[in-house]
Amino acid sequence: MFFINNNFQRLPGNYLFSTIAKKVNEYKEANPDKSIISLGIGDVTRPLPPAVIKALHDAVDEMADASTFRGYGPEQGYLFLRETIVKEDYAPKGVDISADEIYVGDGAKSDSGNIQELFYKDAKIAVTDPVYPVYVDSNAIAGRAGFFDAIEEKWNDLIYMPCTEENCFAPQLPGEKPDVIYLCFPNNPTGSTIPKSELQEWVDYANTIGALIIYDAAYEAYISSDNVAHSIFECEGARTCAIEIRSFSKNAGFTGTRLGFTVIPRELEFGHVKLGDLWARRQGTKFNGAPYIIQRAGEAVYSEEGKAQVKELVSYYMENAKLIRETLESMGYTVSGGIDAPYIWMKTPEDMESWEFFDKLLTEANVVGTPGSGFGPSGEGYFRLTAFGTHENTKEALERIKKL
Ligand code: PLP
Repeated sequence: MFFINNNFQRLPGNYLFSTIAKKVNEYKEANPDKSIISLGIGDVTRPLPPAVIKALHDAVDEMADASTFRGYGPEQGYLFLRETIVKEDYAPKGVDISADEIYVGDGAKSDSGNIQELFYKDAKIAVTDPVYPVYVDSNAIAGRAGFFDAIEEKWNDLIYMPCTEENCFAPQLPGEKPDVIYLCFPNNPTGSTIPKSELQEWVDYANTIGALIIYDAAYEAYISSDNVAHSIFECEGARTCAIEIRSFSKNAGFTGTRLGFTVIPRELEFGHVKLGDLWARRQGTKFNGAPYIIQRAGEAVYSEEGKAQVKELVSYYMENAKLIRETLESMGYTVSGGIDAPYIWMKTPEDMESWEFFDKLLTEANVVGTPGSGFGPSGEGYFRLTAFGTHENTKEALERIKKL
């Protein structure tokens, strides 16, 4: 007799972005003459940097020649990429990470969703509220205690660390002791960051209680404030309590190209089992490595031209962020984020519920954003706009919002 994994039933009915897509499609079908601008989903719109395109072409040519053709690659990722990451991302910040502690994957979503396979079934998980839904849903699918229970319709048995206006959208150390803490800075969805000194407090806390921090740094490239750490490993003691997850999606526009990596220091162990070895075993079982041509493309992100082009891309999006933030502020909205992150987190007007504001914006301004409540209960009454649109669309969307 075949049974399904019942944990899927306990997840919220639809993944947030499917619900948004459904609503937008229904509106489009009923109003085919309307042009809709999306500042909703966190997908980039600019093309890949020229240095990346060149590397892709060159790598494709290599694949066409028997003498340079590559088949299955090393599961941990090619050494050329891992060494480049160390040299360009970590060494300049004085961070001691070696190439054998880097595990190349196909993006931060897979890694942040899969990493929970290393945890004990009853591990106590702490997440921020609001939160990037992947952390919660992946633990829920695994049957781990703690998830939004769609049958009971309540947030269940997970340690939620509310991020609200009162605490400037920065989580406080939880009252209850967690085993695993997910942190994401710059944050999706609130666009908030915390100073390095505060991140150090999290590292000290995790080391004191023996917890593991999963640090999602997918938006690291957007940090402009000097007091914000680009990597958790800039904090003292992080090597004994933290795993860091990075992505090429938001800095170099790899959302459709797929590349990321996870850093697991060799000090991380339980008993005599190293977490890095467990992850290698997990990846070796279920993953055959990121494609050679994509890893070459990733390497090109760190070339001199690549770095300059990525900087340009980030500036392009951050111009949008500044414009969104300043325009909404001038209209009297309460907004945060948009300084070290491509996300603007706005309070809905007149205490409207997030989905109510979504409907209003969609139908009256033909602008799509993301309802804050989709990221957790503390997101209710908030709305996320992203800076990943084109300048033209962003300006036009703001004009439409102004007219509301
Ligand atoms: N982590 C966070 C916090 C994100 O917001 C996203 C994408 O929106 C990801 C990870 C996924 O990144 P990737 O495209 O590398 O899978």
